[in-house]
Amino acid sequence: MTLHPAVLDRPADGTAGAFTGVLLDMDGTLVDSDAAVERSWRSWAGRWGADPDAVLAVMTGHPAEATVRRARPDLDDAMVAAATRDHLEHEYADLADVVAAPGARELVEHLEATFTPWAVVTSADTRLARARLDAAGLEFPVLVPRDMVAAGKPDPEGYLTAADLLGVRPVDCLVVEDSAVGVAAGRAAGATVAGLRGVDADVAVGSLHDVVGLMAQEVTA
Ligand SMILES: [Mg+2]
Repeated sequence: MTLHPAVLDRPADGTAGAFTGVLLDMDGTLVDSDAAVERSWRSWAGRWGADPDAVLAVMTGHPAEATVRRARPDLDDAMVAAATRDHLEHEYADLADVVAAPGARELVEHLEATFTPWAVVTSADTRLARARLDAAGLEFPVLVPRDMVAAGKPDPEGYLTAADLLGVRPVDCLVVEDSAVGVAAGRAAGATVAGLRGVDADVAVGSLHDVVGLMAQEVTA
């Protein structure tokens, strides 16, 4: 794990230096839904006349509607809504291999044990987020899905809303993301962002196990 100066420079005088809140992306971060996501977009592309590889290349981190608009810019708003609903219906039903990401349970246990306020902030809608988190066996205190905010990632609204619900300042939060779109949202909210899967962020982490280490280090600093 490589710590960025943004983390190393944080004051180490007790709780003032610790992250007071943790805001977690869902897909690819807290939940491994890669196979389900790929299946649903490939089948959608087949039904809606889009290039599946092109769709998969741009969809990560974006709300489904944004991906539909990029894949089929010729569709009017009503057709975009229909195409988005069609995609989501397949995702709601395809949960068999959705599991908790490595380190997810340990991180949640650490956050609960240290009374650290935390939330899930996702581009999925409420139904899909609840379905995937349930399939992964993860309970969550606060959920900010796409349909709770006016603007999805990369807009910071989801992260700002989550921090507000938790009663913490966004600047005191650690955001964990696996996509460039999500990192942009977390940074725009003013948070420090940990990046999984090689995405460029303030702190590089290999898995959520590293995030547990990062939080433990902050608590004991
Ligand atoms: Mg993600």
